[in-house]
Amino acid sequence: MSAQLDALREQVRGTVTGPDDPGYDDARAVRNGMIDRRPAVVVQPVNAGDVMTAVRYAAENGMSVAVRGGAHSVPGFGTADEAVVIDLSAMRGVRVDPVARTARVGGGATWGDLNAATYPFGLATTGGIISTTGVGGLTLGGGIGYLARGLGLSLDNLVSADVVTADGTFHVASDKDDADLFWALRGGGGNFGVVTSFDFRLSPVKDVYGGPMFFELDRAGDLFRLYREFIADAPEQFGGFPAYQIAPPLPFIPEYRHGETLALMVTCWAGDLQRGEEVLKPFRDLAPTVGEMVGPMPYPALNSAFDDLYPSGLRHYWKSNFATELTDAAIAAHEEHGAQVPELTSTMHIYPINGACHRVASDATAFAYRDAGFATVIAGMWPDAADDERNIAWVRGYADAIAPHSEEGGYVNFLAADDQGRIEANYGGNYGRLREIKRRYDPDNMFRHNQNIAPA
Ligand SMILES: Cc1cc2nc3c(=O)[nH]c(=O)nc-3n(C[C@H](O)[C@H](O)[C@H](O)COP(=O)(O)OP(=O)(O)OC[C@H]3O[C@@H](n4cnc5c(N)ncnc54)[C@H](O)[C@@H]3O)c2cc1C
Repeated sequence: MSAQLDALREQVRGTVTGPDDPGYDDARAVRNGMIDRRPAVVVQPVNAGDVMTAVRYAAENGMSVAVRGGAHSVPGFGTADEAVVIDLSAMRGVRVDPVARTARVGGGATWGDLNAATYPFGLATTGGIISTTGVGGLTLGGGIGYLARGLGLSLDNLVSADVVTADGTFHVASDKDDADLFWALRGGGGNFGVVTSFDFRLSPVKDVYGGPMFFELDRAGDLFRLYREFIADAPEQFGGFPAYQIAPPLPFIPEYRHGETLALMVTCWAGDLQRGEEVLKPFRDLAPTVGEMVGPMPYPALNSAFDDLYPSGLRHYWKSNFATELTDAAIAAHEEHGAQVPELTSTMHIYPINGACHRVASDATAFAYRDAGFATVIAGMWPDAADDERNIAWVRGYADAIAPHSEEGGYVNFLAADDQGRIEANYGGNYGRLREIKRRYDPDNMFRHNQNIAPA
């Protein structure tokens, strides 16, 4: 094995780390602290050529490949026992073309990398809620965030992608070339190859108006009902979501309320800043806030406002459902289970799926749930292994309670490892085409460490 690794080292410009090398334990780790896997080798490529070499190495040795972008996968798909791990974290450059309004983004970049590069140009595209998440995994599974109602999902803003497929060949996939592959990448997760670079369309977004507003817990039901009406026809520059959240020790929350479970509305208005307060008025009229940090701020500041709550190493177990309607019965289930959120770092968010997300047909990309109204995530995150059982039980009990009021499928990026049985439901009418494209581009299922689409 070590002779094989030496040969690989000679061919790769980046780093090759095997089990006997110093740094192996760091190289195999991902952000979910519950994941403890021992890959055969971790390759950190610095260019697409390195990625081709690593994929060919895996093919020649009959090994699977685990791809890692920002390492946030809750089931820990960015590392796997006995696999070749391709860790793209050294490929995170971003080049902005302000005239074409596009950005070329390395396959291992985070949303923080992208936002920092585009903000000075007054441009942005839909990313997630925090900035440490990888552009790679988040985009390939969908991409739900503050700007989605106006700009669509992250994947709706993808113009093309550079991809290394299972046979080690390089493709520039777009609507014109490898169009099937491009279709499948947009929602199919890491199933179809290693994306070494993304080309995104950018839109004018610079400073936004918004932030978190904490309400008394007993107003949660009212908040959810208000949000349901408001979000149906709110201007599309509004993004945001209601949540349950234990009050963190932040200066804008009175100290004596720290540690109490509260209802939370996170808001982001990406339109004319002067209109910010007017847009938020329905939430102001709901009830006085317990604490809030609302105002004008750079979009990257809002996008990184919650980063410190979620450090690397927390233990993660999540569940997710799409819902067409947020019914009164669903809200009653939320009130019962949300109030029992067990940890400061655990939470439940209800993201809106409408506006620009609805203007794309369900079969235009692999992301099928275009008629959903909401994507719910129950995100268990906690620091201590002794609390595993309690937190996992909360997530499962909550998910079971809202299941009767939800669609069968959930958002692939929010699902747990034990959700593989829901894959077909997640992709609905697109599943058959995805399996056929998988068979063409990855017949041996080399890329199987993901919410896996088995080749047809
Ligand atoms: C704290 C936290 C906050 C989150 N917030 C949001 C949010 O606001 N909105 C949202 O939509 N999702 C959110 N997510 C979910 C997130 O989209 C997924 O966890 C996503 O998979 C993370 O991507 P990553 O690149 O960081 O992860 P990784 O673990 O590196 O990769 C995840 C999956 O994507 C594949 N992959 C990653 N990069 C590439 C690439 N370049 N080429 C091919 N395959 C690749 C991997 O193989 C793996 O299967 C959040 C997750 C966490 C933990």
